[in-house]
Amino acid sequence: MLNLYRRTVLGIAGLPGVEGVARRYGWRFGVGRFVAGETVAAARPALRALVDEGRATIVDVLGEYVRDEAAARAMAASVATTIATLADAGLPAVVSVKPTQLGLGIDPALALELASDLARAAEARGGRLCLDMEDHRFVDATLDLLAGVRAAGAPRASTVLQAYLHRTPDDLVALLAASPPGAEVRIVKGAYHEPAEVALTAMSEVRRAFLSACETAWRGGAKVNVATHDEGLIAEATAFARGAGLGQERYELQLLYGVKPALQRRLAAAGHPVRIYVPLGVDWYGYFSRRLAERPANVAVVLRGLFR
Ligand SMILES: Cc1cc2nc3c(=O)[nH]c(=O)nc-3n(C[C@H](O)[C@H](O)[C@H](O)COP(=O)(O)OP(=O)(O)OC[C@H]3O[C@@H](n4cnc5c(N)ncnc54)[C@H](O)[C@@H]3O)c2cc1C
Repeated sequence: MLNLYRRTVLGIAGLPGVEGVARRYGWRFGVGRFVAGETVAAARPALRALVDEGRATIVDVLGEYVRDEAAARAMAASVATTIATLADAGLPAVVSVKPTQLGLGIDPALALELASDLARAAEARGGRLCLDMEDHRFVDATLDLLAGVRAAGAPRASTVLQAYLHRTPDDLVALLAASPPGAEVRIVKGAYHEPAEVALTAMSEVRRAFLSACETAWRGGAKVNVATHDEGLIAEATAFARGAGLGQERYELQLLYGVKPALQRRLAAAGHPVRIYVPLGVDWYGYFSRRLAERPANVAVVLRGLFR
């Protein structure tokens, strides 16, 4: 049922004309609940508040699927400015990027050049770069990109594996073998609408695969970024980590800005390392559509905005 809902919302979001209307009315649609601002300056108070309350942050300068080199370079320049602004403000210079926003879909060599520059810049300011994982067509290229970025002098760069993909257990084993001890990997359920040939469709199976990936990554010596709002999974993953005697340097709970803020506070107050993924920027449409697709109640946020 949720799959049908997700397919419908993402289908409507892709219809001609819908994006234009959404962009025109932007913040009125409730975008501000999930996106901290259109610029790093606008997002700064929200970032500061999270850090002051004991939650770390990872910033995503929104964008995906650029079509030419100039757009990829402009995106990279904007991420570079964000890294510098965050570090100057004493905020974590930890950023996440979508590989296709750096041109992975048009020229892997260009994406490697831009991602390596950004990852080195972040590490020079005490931070790091994570490569988000997009739809299944980009998994091989993203894993290759990560290897290239690390080899180019950014050993703390990391990526994401999606529990719903059939290939993820094999990818995880290969990634662990190629990673330095303690390297980070983010585990998520997966946010894209994928065909059954490549992805699990039953939520019970995705949840099992999620936990199994976390456990394999921990056994392989990784730091696991457990990225979910699923309280059952968070409880089971943290119980496993505790049972295995893993310290705080071996895990982090990651949640999205604006999603379950009370849970975020509770987890931090319970002493877990918590990091909030904070999107910002003008290119919020794809990200916002996926958040609506995750939860029917979020559509009510949009409808309330329309009739306000
Ligand atoms: C830090 C972080 C980084 C991510 N990076 C990636 C990535 O690189 N690639 C990728 O494919 N996916 C990524 N995702 C998204 C992920 O794949 C899931 O689509 C998303 O987390 C929803 O699944 P869930 O695990 O929270 O569980 P769900 O079963 O979807 O949700 C669990 C509970 O949280 C609530 N909830 C979930 N989403 C929302 C929402 N939007 N608004 C309000 N309540 C909500 C649900 O109602 C439910 O109660 C990331 C997620 C996080 C938290």
